[in-house]
Amino acid sequence: MKSYISHLECSKTGDIYSASEVHNLSKDGMPLLARYDLAKLKAEQDKDSWYEKSAPGFWRYQALLPVSNPASQISLGEVLTPLIPLQASALMLGGKQGNIIVKDEGRLPTGSFKARGLALAVSMAHQFGLNHLAIPTNGNAGAAMAAYAKQANLKATVFCPDDTPTVNVQEIQLQGADTFLVNGLINDCGKIVFEGKEKTGWFDVSTLKEPYRIEGKKTMGFELAEQMNWELPDAIFYPTGGGTGLIGMWKAFAELKELGWLKCKLPKMIAVQSTGCAPIVNAFNEGLSHAPLWENASTVASGIRVPAAIGDFLILEAIRESNGCALAVDDEHIINTRNLVSQEDGLLLCPEGAATAAGYQLAIEKNIISPDETAMLFNCATGLKYPMPPATKSIDKNTPIDYQQFL
Ligand SMILES: *Cc1c(COP(=O)(O)O)cnc(C)c1O
Repeated sequence: MKSYISHLECSKTGDIYSASEVHNLSKDGMPLLARYDLAKLKAEQDKDSWYEKSAPGFWRYQALLPVSNPASQISLGEVLTPLIPLQASALMLGGKQGNIIVKDEGRLPTGSFKARGLALAVSMAHQFGLNHLAIPTNGNAGAAMAAYAKQANLKATVFCPDDTPTVNVQEIQLQGADTFLVNGLINDCGKIVFEGKEKTGWFDVSTLKEPYRIEGKKTMGFELAEQMNWELPDAIFYPTGGGTGLIGMWKAFAELKELGWLKCKLPKMIAVQSTGCAPIVNAFNEGLSHAPLWENASTVASGIRVPAAIGDFLILEAIRESNGCALAVDDEHIINTRNLVSQEDGLLLCPEGAATAAGYQLAIEKNIISPDETAMLFNCATGLKYPMPPATKSIDKNTPIDYQQFL
């Protein structure tokens, strides 16, 4: 199957750029978005035949992805991530069983949905013949870039804040990236990548500073449509850092609408952040179109500790166009919710995923959503990467065991 990409477009000015050249931001310093010849695609392709001919997973959407050289399609075994309805915990969150569904992105290669974006960014880097990639990361993006870059035989350099979860830093290094801890936050790491471009010749793969990570993330929107029989949930709760997934899904829905494949009402897009780092929530509440930098950002949900996002205006536009909103939940609520969903349903969420469940509870309390509506929560990474409460009970094998205690 071929790609129907036609050009890139500046997300602010609409200026057009060639899709066959390497780009970071537009000349106005704004993200570039990939555009496709949807009329041609519609005339030539029948979506039902896609599903008959291709294996589940995001590469089946090739026609709506930018990679045109099959040899550059870098893969580590991407699965269609499951939809898992919450059971007992649904009631405790104020909802109804069956109406709160988790899309579990922790099943993807490297254990997070960053695999989607980085698979595309690395594939395009391979197609363009780039040989050195660099990225600032709170952990999961670095891990995904390291893994896909190794598959593609490209050099990878990764910069993480020095308090990034240890497992992330170690997985990045073990998967072959040159890995550095930085005494700052992700935006400080981003500055190092940006300023080193000329001296090193590396390509900057920061969120929305190259056009293709968002194309990978938009496949979450395609998958939702596929899995829900071309219906969509009433609301999507998305843990928002750089916002690629939220903007990406909104873009995916627009593309499917234009193709005439999606006829349902679009979901409310609800951005969830931590009260320790909530620039988008503030900007949304104050009616701003850009979000000022959040000072002293701090949260256990490291994936959403992003004090400033270059695509802030695109996140805010998507939320407003969809009649959604932005909500902040505190770290204690996040961890309690992580524990609740594990203990009640046996589903181990990452803190960012748990933030969306806490955000759902808040949305119910504030009458933003009703228990009768369907809500999709994104669990963006495996819960196994994050610290968990200790297990404390033990048995002495050398003394008689009191079996009553196990009842
Ligand atoms: C990156 C990340 C996020 C935020 O995703 P964006 O699309 O960049 O907003 C949320 N949770 C986890 C676990 C992440 O790794």
